[in-house]
Formats: sequence, structure tokens, C-alpha cells
Amino acid sequence: MIFQMYTEGNEGVLLGVQGIADKLTAMNVLSYGDKVESVGKKRGTGVWTPGQVYPILKRETYIGVWWAYQWKMVKDPLTRRKHRVKRPRNEWVGIPVPAIISEATWKAAQLRLAEGRQMSKRNNSRHQYLMARRMTCAHCGYRIQGRPCWTKGKVYLYYHCNGKCRSITDGKCDLPSYPVEAVDNLIWQWVRDLFQDMEKMDQGLEQIQQNTEGKCKALYARLEAIDKLREDNTRRDDMLLDLYLDKAISKEKLQARREQYEKADAELLAEREDILKQIDHTKLTDQQIRTIKQLAAVIGPGLEKADLDFALRQQFIRELRVTAKLAVEDGERIIYVQCIIPDSETRLSIDSATS
Ligand SMILES: [Zn+2]
Repeated sequence: MIFQMYTEGNEGVLLGVQGIADKLTAMNVLSYGDKVESVGKKRGTGVWTPGQVYPILKRETYIGVWWAYQWKMVKDPLTRRKHRVKRPRNEWVGIPVPAIISEATWKAAQLRLAEGRQMSKRNNSRHQYLMARRMTCAHCGYRIQGRPCWTKGKVYLYYHCNGKCRSITDGKCDLPSYPVEAVDNLIWQWVRDLFQDMEKMDQGLEQIQQNTEGKCKALYARLEAIDKLREDNTRRDDMLLDLYLDKAISKEKLQARREQYEKADAELLAEREDILKQIDHTKLTDQQIRTIKQLAAVIGPGLEKADLDFALRQQFIRELRVTAKLAVEDGERIIYVQCIIPDSETRLSIDSATS
């Protein structure tokens, strides 16, 4: 049905991805997320978005091929975390499955999708959003989206909260729009200030590193203490058993005491695990700091170049993992920006900063 709407139209009207989403919502068709409980949903039951329609149109499973081995897990050498990446297409393995639609219909849909992609490519290169896909709304939690807005033949770029989109939420979010240029400039200036003053940043990182070292030491000390307490408990338990075997205490007393020890031991064990986790986390921070120091050495000299080069700026923003939350406080539009540097969150106001 979705393919038909996309390639042949619905009641004589050729529908786009958004149109199909609206139509499915109007028809109250249940999506995959409505049927499976484990899928986290922000939207109401039966509400469709373009993001759900689009993958359906692209899926080859419907013409009888299911591609296995599309993804693999790789370890990031910097963070040592595993993440999923798409394999090159020639590594995929096609598995035949029953076809639901004809190949011709599928091809027609792909052709239309390719045309759409061409369009959006043109649009994207014309409208540059430094912080696209890197911001969320502090009021409703939805993503912030960059969108052009035409007024009297001129185009203005704005960041909008997705929660304002009428097809997604019932309760509209009241976050105002933020001009892209002001937001991007403010955030870029923040990154620049942060990384330009290398000496200051080195000092800051040094301080964090010392703090984590101190914290680690304290955690190891507590770990040692816990292990000693647990040993003491085991020894006392053994002594208790000896007393019982010597008939110095009753079986009831032995059991009551043993229960006490076991309970104490379980608590100590839980704390031990918690501390191990904290140590892991602290060590990770330490690793991050080393990564940042390496980055800073490379980035420092490149910043001025990036002032003139949007792609380079975007790369820095990505590598430094700059993200932001938008909020309105006392009538002022506020940006909470942070990056890879621990505790880097900063409150910026676009209303007082723009001159
Ligand atoms: Zn919002």
C-alpha cells in the first residue's frame, strides 16, 4: 500500500514521504513500534512520521531479497567503545524471501527516492547548519531541526524544536525558533575560546586529571577495606562453626549468626561492585583527557583555518562531540553547550550575546 501511494498515488494524488505518513496516521494504521512493546515510542499509537515511511520504501525485503551481514561491530581506537558500522555492499549476503511487491514497483519507488535525494543534496549544500542533529530541546526532549524559512523572497535559516511539529506531538512545545547563524557563531566562538587558550585548557585538564587520580586512590582504599571486612567475616564464621562443633553454642544461635554474616557480606559485595564500576568510569575519564590533549595539539593550529571553512568547522564540532540543549529562561533564549571535555557545559544566551 505504501509503495502504491508513492509510485501511483492515492486517489489520483502522488504522495511524498510526509504525505504517506499523514495518510497512514489518518487511517490509524499500526506501525511496527505500535505492535512491539520493546520499541520506545514518543508518539501516540498509530502516528506515522516520514522517518518510518522512508526505510520501508528502501527495503529490498519486499521484492524478495533480504540482505544479511549488512552491519559489523568495530572498536573505536579512541574511546574503545564498540559501535555498529555498515559493511561495504559487496560483503552483504542476499537471502531469497517471498516477494510482496513487484520489482517494477520497487524500481519506480527507488527512482523517485533518488530524485528526492538529489533535491535535498542541493538544498543541504545551500543551507549550512553547523549544529544539525547535535541539539535537543530542554523543554520537551525532542531533537532540534534546522529548516529554511522564506520571507519576501529571502531565505532565513532557523533551528526548530521537533516537538512543535503538529504531526508528532499533541501538546505543542513552546520553544521559540533560534536563528541558525547566531547559534552556530556563538557555539563556534565557544569552541574556539575553549581550544585557543591551550595553556588554560592544559591547566584545567591537569586539574581534572589530579581529581580523578585522587578519586581513584580513595576508591581503591575503600575496595581494600571491603575485602578485609569480608575476610574478617569469613574468619568469624569459621570460629562460629568451631564453637558449634565444640557444642559451645546451639544450632539456632549458629544459624542466626550465620544469617547476619551472610547479609553483611552481600551488602559488602554490592558495594564492591559499585566501586569497581566507579573505578572503571574514572579511568575512562582519564583516557578521555589524554584523547583531548592529543586533539588539542592538532586542533589548535587548525582553528583559524576552520573560521573560513565550513566543512572543517563541522569536522571539529563532530570530533569534539559538541552537543547542545536549547531552553528559554526568563524570556531569554539559552544554549547549554558541552563537548568532549568533562564538565565543559556552558550556558550561553543568544539574546544578550548578539549585537
Ligand atoms: Zn521542544
